[in-house]
Amino acid sequence: GGVDRSPHVVMLSSPGMGHLIPLAEFARRLAVHHGFSVTLVATADFASSPSHRVFVDSLPPGVASVTLPPVDVPDGMDIVATISLTIVESLPALRRIVSGLKRTARLVAFVADLFGTDTFDLASEFGIPPFIFFASNLFLLSLSLHLPALHETMPRLPDPVTLPGCLPMHWADLPIVVKDWTTEEFMWLLYHLKRYEKAEGILVNSFQEMEPETAVVLKEKKPGQPPIHLIGPLVQNGGSSWNPEESLCLKWLDEQPDASVVYVSLGSLGVLSREQIKEMALGLEMSGHGFLWVVKSPAAEEGAAGGSNADPESYLPECFLERTKGTGLVVSFWAPQVRILSHRAVGGFLTHCGWSSTLESAVHGVPMIAWPLYAEQRMNALMLVDRLKVALRVKAGEDGVVRREEISAAVAELMDGEEGRAARERVTQLQVAATAAAAAAVGGTSYEALAEVVAKWKDSS
Ligand code: UDP
Repeated sequence: GGVDRSPHVVMLSSPGMGHLIPLAEFARRLAVHHGFSVTLVATADFASSPSHRVFVDSLPPGVASVTLPPVDVPDGMDIVATISLTIVESLPALRRIVSGLKRTARLVAFVADLFGTDTFDLASEFGIPPFIFFASNLFLLSLSLHLPALHETMPRLPDPVTLPGCLPMHWADLPIVVKDWTTEEFMWLLYHLKRYEKAEGILVNSFQEMEPETAVVLKEKKPGQPPIHLIGPLVQNGGSSWNPEESLCLKWLDEQPDASVVYVSLGSLGVLSREQIKEMALGLEMSGHGFLWVVKSPAAEEGAAGGSNADPESYLPECFLERTKGTGLVVSFWAPQVRILSHRAVGGFLTHCGWSSTLESAVHGVPMIAWPLYAEQRMNALMLVDRLKVALRVKAGEDGVVRREEISAAVAELMDGEEGRAARERVTQLQVAATAAAAAAVGGTSYEALAEVVAKWKDSS
């Protein structure tokens, strides 16, 4: 008595909305489609952000959200170290949560995301099989799984890196963290990757039809490689209205013609230099196309923090907002991206190629301009431009700044040109494939892959 017999999964999200969003979507699927209960544990850094609150409010019954108490980690460390230490410091609180749940719930799996392997021992101690949720693609997973062996046998990564089933990756396409093997950030990454083999499975937010060549290779069983399950695309479904910004964007889009607006957003962490912001503004204006642009204040200069929601008037070119009032809408900091991408007025997406953004664009059939900034985004851009051909590229000048003429030309090509038309056609095919992959009725590949994992979890004691 006293134990709820429905299978229960504990999930831990690394800090950052980009990690939380797909994991929450995974939790929602398990609860709504498969009758699971889920406890979704997030670190304290979220708790104060409005976007986090939306999340908690939009979770279905069956998914409980728990926030860990804040922990002290030194300032000024790189992101992987910060995330990793946050999780290490949170282990005692996590232990209390899991041990409390253990008394009342049938815990069948513990799911951590890509930097959460420090939770595996805790999970095992409670007899809960650990899994990894990899909120990126097979391209990055391939590199990740090969990295420990490459590190052992070479002084540095070759240029290009060629892996079975993957496009060759030149150094320029690689995440910065894997290029320098002497950094603390790299040591943390390697530490986690070496622990991946302890997981009972890796759940990947991608789908076979998006990366067929890589999928074939990664599905082969190899010693030390946990089974890989392709269960994506897991993307938000838009949710309910939650802030004034949201209705502002949607009302504005309602007034625009079909497929006439390019949506410009560089992710939750994307920050541009002051000069690049100016070129972006003037390029969008020059293109003459409608645009919806999510802006953040420029990269840190002289003590001012970058990437804030400071008043855009203060850093956009003079009179820009006034001049573009008829054709453009500028939104500060955060916009309801999924609802925007699903709006009939949106015909293109200038994106930083974060994996969630990429999937959202694919699911809604929106062709892209690739503007990769950090993490594995250059690899994603490579896949989108060279393999799938659903995105166009922009070229930076020698100083690293993309000029207004280049931006204007890319927008014009995407919205009106031949390449844009071809990209739109292919992304529509990708959209069809994404929908089919997730569909139960047609035995979609991702639906079946998740059903298999779910059956295993339901069967476990
Ligand atoms: N997002 C949003 N509004 C914004 C910026 C981002 O809703 O103004 C959401 C977006 O839809 C996606 C996530 O935040 O689900 C960003 O994830 P992604 O992997 O694309 O990039 P990251 O921010 O993690 O680099």
